[in-house]
Amino acid sequence: MLRYIKGKNRNQLNIIPVSLDEMIAEDNPVRVIDALVDSLDMESLDFKYVLPKETGRKPYDPRHMLKLYIYGYYNGIRTTRKLEKECKRNIEVMWLLDNLMPDDKTISNFRKDNKKAITEVFKQFSMLCSELGLYGKEVIAVDGSKFRANNSRRKNYTKNKVKKMLEYYEETAKKYIELLNENDEKEKNEKVEKHTKQEISTKLEAAKKRIEELTEMAEEIEKNGEISITDPDAKHMSVSNNGTDIAHNVQIAVDSKNHLVVAVDVVSTPADQNQLHNMSSKAVEELGLKEDENGDLKKEAEEKDIITVLADKGYYCGEELEKCRKDHIRTIVPKQKSGSRTGNEEYVKDNFIYDAQKDIYICPSGEILQNISNPSSKDQTYKNTEACEKCKYKDKCTTSKKGRIIKRGPYQEIYDKVDKITLENKNLYRQRQMIVEHPFGTVKRALGFSYFLTRGNENVKAESCMHFFTYNLIRVINIIGTKELTKILKAKNQAFSNVFYHYTKLNIILTNNYRFMTKKTRKTDCFYAVCRPLVSGLIIPYSKLYYLH
Ligand code: SF4
Repeated sequence: MLRYIKGKNRNQLNIIPVSLDEMIAEDNPVRVIDALVDSLDMESLDFKYVLPKETGRKPYDPRHMLKLYIYGYYNGIRTTRKLEKECKRNIEVMWLLDNLMPDDKTISNFRKDNKKAITEVFKQFSMLCSELGLYGKEVIAVDGSKFRANNSRRKNYTKNKVKKMLEYYEETAKKYIELLNENDEKEKNEKVEKHTKQEISTKLEAAKKRIEELTEMAEEIEKNGEISITDPDAKHMSVSNNGTDIAHNVQIAVDSKNHLVVAVDVVSTPADQNQLHNMSSKAVEELGLKEDENGDLKKEAEEKDIITVLADKGYYCGEELEKCRKDHIRTIVPKQKSGSRTGNEEYVKDNFIYDAQKDIYICPSGEILQNISNPSSKDQTYKNTEACEKCKYKDKCTTSKKGRIIKRGPYQEIYDKVDKITLENKNLYRQRQMIVEHPFGTVKRALGFSYFLTRGNENVKAESCMHFFTYNLIRVINIIGTKELTKILKAKNQAFSNVFYHYTKLNIILTNNYRFMTKKTRKTDCFYAVCRPLVSGLIIPYSKLYYLH
């Protein structure tokens, strides 16, 4: 007999039967998923079958289905067939679903019928994070990343691709017509042919049909830029490593304190340029900075900025920066490098100093460039032809014979303001990458969600919300701990233990947040800090009793 560690005989019966619950450890994350879904207000989320009909076939409880769905994402299982398999073999799923085994069609229908409700789950979890003081609500970082769409390259058509295909099919049709003419000649001479006239005609018809389709496509491309057949909202975009793919541009806003995702959006444009205000205002709304009941933050917002947003130079757009300024959102965005036609970096526009009082530009050689435009025109033009003609640096400064011209657009003022703030906050800006790339890295690499399974903007948005909800759930479990979070969620769900829930919330705020305390949260937290010793003496015995019970 070889000397190995021996297992238990599979036919051995237990004297004391073991329940499913005993097989799931106290600190198993599946308990968090269970308590989390039980704590959600399913009716307000508007899940289908939340109130089953009196008659007809009984549906599955949407709570069970949502638990399975979240469990799947948490463990990187996204396809419905794999989830069905897990229901039959995975002890955690058996525990979570009370031994129910829905088939893949039911799981798939649940996803299809509850797109909006699933998106709302992300928001409800964000509210919980906010209640637990896990958001700093001071600095957020915005960024975008391309996620591969459910659309093959073959099914994506650009102007050039359609042009080449049209040329090919037109050439082919021409050859078939020539072949038909040759056949007619040969039929007269009674020679036997390799391809019959009928075969060539069929091929010619097919080529003509394709030409028609491609011509229609070319017209549509002229209007929309490109066409994706399987997922019409997917676009041809540049992805990392200088490659391209058919993808969606996923935008996120991340709170700097615990790197939790606050807002998610999916857009079909490859550039991030028009997304700064969209994402910042979404984050402000999710963080509840605009909707304070007492109006405290609104009053503050009238006087100063409510939040600071960090974004890379891809978001440097005057219109967006101006919108943020109007909404009291402070932006730290580095500017795009301005170039010079001569290639000499000493004479780029940034080295021309603007004097706002006199409304003039002073060039690097000290000459004054006057404003020569109509005050009502959108772009103001500055030049000094005489000085430029005599200037010995002219060749380095401009390629124009008439001298250097400087244009000042309507957003130059906000550009200058943002440039100044960015320069003063270099250290804060350096944190941007660390904050925002953590969620993208985890979702794409650790969880493997670098591509979408669904199609169309609405579906893809719901899927994206699930990606980042999973990321947030993992983060919160890591921060608070499985046992503690399960307790909080269970307590949130029950009337008596609401007191315990608020007490635990205070504890978490105090233990996790004290070092992060900011002016904004200090008022409430200080109140907790004062009350904590008074409250703990009273509540701890009760809460212990409750849990022992
Ligand atoms: S060319 Fe004109 S704008 Fe340029 S450095 Fe000379 S004087 Fe100044």
